[in-house]
Amino acid sequence: MKNIYISLLLLLNIVGACGQNNNNNNNKENRMIKFNKLTQAEENVIVNKATERPFTGEYLNNTEEGTYVCKRCDAPLFYSSDKFDANCGWPSFDDEIEGSVKRVPDADGRRTEIICNNCGAHLGHVFLGESFTKKNTRHCVNSISLKFIPKKDKLQVKDKSLEKIYFASGCFWGTEYFFMKAPGVVSTSVGFMGGDKKNPTYKEVSEQKTGHVETTEVVFDPTKTTYGDLVRLFFETHDFTQTDGQGPDIGPQYLSRIFYKNDEEKKIAEKYIGLLTEKGYRVATTLKPVSDYWKAENYHQQYYKHKGSTPYCHVYKKIF
Ligand SMILES: [Zn+2]
Repeated sequence: MKNIYISLLLLLNIVGACGQNNNNNNNKENRMIKFNKLTQAEENVIVNKATERPFTGEYLNNTEEGTYVCKRCDAPLFYSSDKFDANCGWPSFDDEIEGSVKRVPDADGRRTEIICNNCGAHLGHVFLGESFTKKNTRHCVNSISLKFIPKKDKLQVKDKSLEKIYFASGCFWGTEYFFMKAPGVVSTSVGFMGGDKKNPTYKEVSEQKTGHVETTEVVFDPTKTTYGDLVRLFFETHDFTQTDGQGPDIGPQYLSRIFYKNDEEKKIAEKYIGLLTEKGYRVATTLKPVSDYWKAENYHQQYYKHKGSTPYCHVYKKIF
């Protein structure tokens, strides 16, 4: 079933049908943010989304410890500890400061653009699945979009203490659809967990040889929502009694599963399974400890948001 959707998606990408509605929203948000004055060269990249020439940027070979912030609004974006040498001509980071970088479909219909989540400044692009580092992610960033604050200058980064959790409930497009809209959720991504093979591809997981399940990573702000709220949402957005997959997607990669990081999370998940059992449901969801999470290919990320449609296999149903 999903393969049909993927074929359609790839076709749409080829004809470049991806819309760019994000600019209007950014403009609205931008009115509230104080911007630093930009030079013409900075504006070309940050506003007009040009790309600086490879191997020319100020920070390409910078190995000093510190934090990279947005040139336009000073929001902290990347730590030097996540910088690596991809030999591609631009500074590369395999992680972002949580919640600071937003991924949007590029106007070219193929790549995924990254922008400052605070002010919408163009930063560069993100590429997944290249196996440069364990995180399997390369934020390819224009130096000119960044400002470097050495550690000795003590940047005050607001510690928001965000939490990361993992749910599997069938096709990850549908699981992510509900979590990315949930209050208190800062960011989401989809990938694979629970199997043996490192850096599996979607195709390998689909062939059911790796042991992974399609998994959604949810980053949330514990001052705005709780693990229990999100566990309830998990159970209320899929058929947790199905034992062979989810909806029309049949196979071990589509099983219902909660990956817990610690005893506290496990106990909360068990509490809700107990409540559902009392209500007469035969819960098929299994609980497993968190293991390596491998992000899926770009075109699976925020799938329904980019497509502007709704899931075929997940619906919200109030239970609690
Ligand atoms: Zn910014």
